[in-house]
Amino acid sequence: MSELIEEVENFLAALAEMPGSYLECRSMLHSWSAADGKFTIVDTNVETSRRRRGGEAVYAERVLTCTRCGMERSDAYRMTSRRGHTALQKIDARYTPPEGYYVKGSGKLSKDLLLGAKFDADLAEVTPTRRRARKRVS
Ligand SMILES: [Zn+2]
Repeated sequence: MSELIEEVENFLAALAEMPGSYLECRSMLHSWSAADGKFTIVDTNVETSRRRRGGEAVYAERVLTCTRCGMERSDAYRMTSRRGHTALQKIDARYTPPEGYYVKGSGKLSKDLLLGAKFDADLAEVTPTRRRARKRVS
């Protein structure tokens, strides 16, 4: 088996095992929600287990969670001011995926296969209804 075919087979096998919510998030966008909606200040000089982000030792952080798949996202912001008003500049975002969310794949090909898997799953859900409807007509 060629390396590409093997990679595609592995990817399809992983997609078949994936929860429906993962397919929804992977084929659309995550549904982000802030647990308490609040920013916090991280000071790596005090919280020694934390690391600098974007070169900043002190930064603002907001943690979001996807309501569908459970992916966690931590956004870090540089705290500045503009004409006396607080201003935040995003410096980076870090993602913590739920178990089994990421699968080895190959870019564009993976996206096509992913959409195909979601398409197949959606059609598999409606097919029984259509069959019943057809039976009633005949
Ligand atoms: Zn999600």
